[in-house]
Amino acid sequence: MSTPPRRPLDTYRAMRDFAATPEPGGEPSGDGDLAPTGDVFVIQKHAARRLHYDLRLELDGVLLSWAVPRGPSLDPAVRRLAMRTEDHPLAYADFEGVIPKGQYGGGAVIVWDRGTWAPRDEPRAALARGRLTFTLHGDKVRGQWTLLRTRTGDRGEAWMLFKRNDAEADPARDVTRERPESVLTGRTVEQVAAAG
Ligand code: MN
Repeated sequence: MSTPPRRPLDTYRAMRDFAATPEPGGEPSGDGDLAPTGDVFVIQKHAARRLHYDLRLELDGVLLSWAVPRGPSLDPAVRRLAMRTEDHPLAYADFEGVIPKGQYGGGAVIVWDRGTWAPRDEPRAALARGRLTFTLHGDKVRGQWTLLRTRTGDRGEAWMLFKRNDAEADPARDVTRERPESVLTGRTVEQVAAAG
């Protein structure tokens, strides 16, 4: 991750064997039905070797990505680790299925939440500073959130994801437990895994 990729999705493509995984290939011409609107966000629940949630924010034609082991919390006092991961193709926002065992990220994926996002400040500068504040308009997660970079090193960039204190904050609710299902199909990640 120390050397920037030549093209936006080179790292994504280099990590995957598209003969073996049903994930979108990330071809430069686009390989999904998803037209770039500039403001898509998605959170995927991913039952890989370790269960986690992948937060993705559309910017400049790709999905910026963070893996959040415990998922988002609506409690502004709770900061959740969010490891930056490789940019994903826009078509990934629709991806729900099973990555075969033995492939990178092997396990079931559901679209846990989906909607639009809006950065508070110019997003490229905010990312470079390591503090990105934005609004999410999803079914399950809404209102203002912040991603704060805490560490950059050989093992990647560690950020913290937390809810800002607004009308959508609710320390009493555990949204990942209350709403485990896909917003696309209503299926749980266990059901997707069982269906193969
Ligand atoms: Mn993942």
